[in-house]
Amino acid sequence: MEKVIITAAITGSRIMRDAAPHIPITPEEIIQSALEAWRAGAAIVHIHVRDPKTGLGCQDLHRFRQVVEALRKETDLILSLTTSGIPGRNLPAEERLCPVTLKPELASFDAGSINLGGAVFINDPAFLDQAAGIMKQAGVKPEIEIFDLGMLITALRMHDEGKLDDPLHFQFVLGPPWGAPATPKSFLHLHDHLPPGATWSTIGIGRGFLPMAMMALIMGGHIRVGMEDNIYLDKGVMAKTNAELVERVVRIIEAYGRPIASPSEARLLLGLKK
Ligand code: ZN
Repeated sequence: MEKVIITAAITGSRIMRDAAPHIPITPEEIIQSALEAWRAGAAIVHIHVRDPKTGLGCQDLHRFRQVVEALRKETDLILSLTTSGIPGRNLPAEERLCPVTLKPELASFDAGSINLGGAVFINDPAFLDQAAGIMKQAGVKPEIEIFDLGMLITALRMHDEGKLDDPLHFQFVLGPPWGAPATPKSFLHLHDHLPPGATWSTIGIGRGFLPMAMMALIMGGHIRVGMEDNIYLDKGVMAKTNAELVERVVRIIEAYGRPIASPSEARLLLGLKK
């Protein structure tokens, strides 16, 4: 059976200490949490950084550099840097795309606009063209985040136009308010539209975390977990670390019988050059 790549999404941009007392905020906390997730079995870490004054996500290149340099020195992790900024705050394109200059192996690429909670997360066609162009030039592979079918169709169109290169890698984000729900039927509908040769992973937001991890497990995909997506280890039990969330899926993957990919094995599976 094909190896499973586990991605740990360390902190995101929105969940604050009042809701999640253990969520990493400072660069030091983010680095420490990523190290623990790596030791627990993650091959990829998805990184946001936070503004220490507000606690919210920010696209501060200096902070990204601090985290990236430490993780490159101490681990063989694949780094996936966010270009979302704070979904719904719609930061200027240059700010959102600045982490690409650090040449991570992956960067998030949100393939369309969507209402999230009370705001609209804008990824209009001009921004997508700009993001795809900058990533291609920097040799950074887009991790194509799909919240609904229109985003997948958009990515396929951009692939046909030569803006996104093979092999495509998709990240299905199911269960956010108010995107596609984290249900098997909803996921299968998206999965039916995957192009041949693509790799893919699932994210289940909140209580969708285990159902979507299981769908990926049985259908040959990869799995993202972490405090950006879900802060509960179990019903009513908050995760204290990202490593606990990784360990939770490691146990399920091992019981099922798929091997877990190391970072170098994940590079081969994703067609990364390094
Ligand atoms: Zn993110």
